[in-house]
Amino acid sequence: MQEIKLLYLYPDLLELYGDFGNIQVLKYRCEQRNIKLIIDEYSIGDDTPDFESYDIIFAGGGADNEQSILSDDLMKHKESIKKAFENGTFFLLICGAYQLFGKYYKGVEGNIIPGLEVFDYYTVSEPDRTKRCIGNIVTKACFDGEETEIIGFENHGGQTFDVEKPFGKVLFGNGNKFQDEYEGYFKENVIATYLHGPLLSKNPKVADYIIKYCLERKEPSEEIKLKKLDDTFEEKCRKQLLDRFIKK
Ligand code: GLN
Repeated sequence: MQEIKLLYLYPDLLELYGDFGNIQVLKYRCEQRNIKLIIDEYSIGDDTPDFESYDIIFAGGGADNEQSILSDDLMKHKESIKKAFENGTFFLLICGAYQLFGKYYKGVEGNIIPGLEVFDYYTVSEPDRTKRCIGNIVTKACFDGEETEIIGFENHGGQTFDVEKPFGKVLFGNGNKFQDEYEGYFKENVIATYLHGPLLSKNPKVADYIIKYCLERKEPSEEIKLKKLDDTFEEKCRKQLLDRFIKK
């Protein structure tokens, strides 16, 4: 049985927006294809994991307070995490985690939370707590040469600047900043995005992209064709949401 190893960072701290659901979707879509998803967790006080041994490293969203609580611990692993990224481990980073992989996150109190500097963007929170990017969001992204709508929900005060390669073009909602043209950050082995939902439950193509990437990285000489799953329900839900947010 094929296996994919996933490391879930700070599940006890970056858990505010239900992003754990992304792991449940990955697990389901792997098991339907007879692929075993092995899930390890890491948080403050745990033994240091071998980051490079993982196929996927996942971290979700959280409040400024929790982001500053975990910051010192995260920074201890800066070089190993960077090396894992450079070696091809896939990173799925949602909101607060997205912010912490950049240069820094300036929180709503004006405090600077240093980032891992894996990517060059930086984030500054809107100082007025009542002003946040909150609501449904739809972007257009390109996967495996195919354009697809990405549907989710955003809830962030952080405004992210200097994004070299966005994940999607905003069709509805805010994005990296208030009324931004673009959202998230994307490269072959990273999806960093503000989209909660959870992201993968509303966007099965993104989940399959990650699974396929991991299998291709393990078997570079093989052409990986994922068994097609019955996404009738997911597509019905997507159509309903797209009709609601993107009036043709
Ligand atoms: N605390 C960060 C912000 O407000 C991240 C929020 C989140 O993870 N949804 O921007």
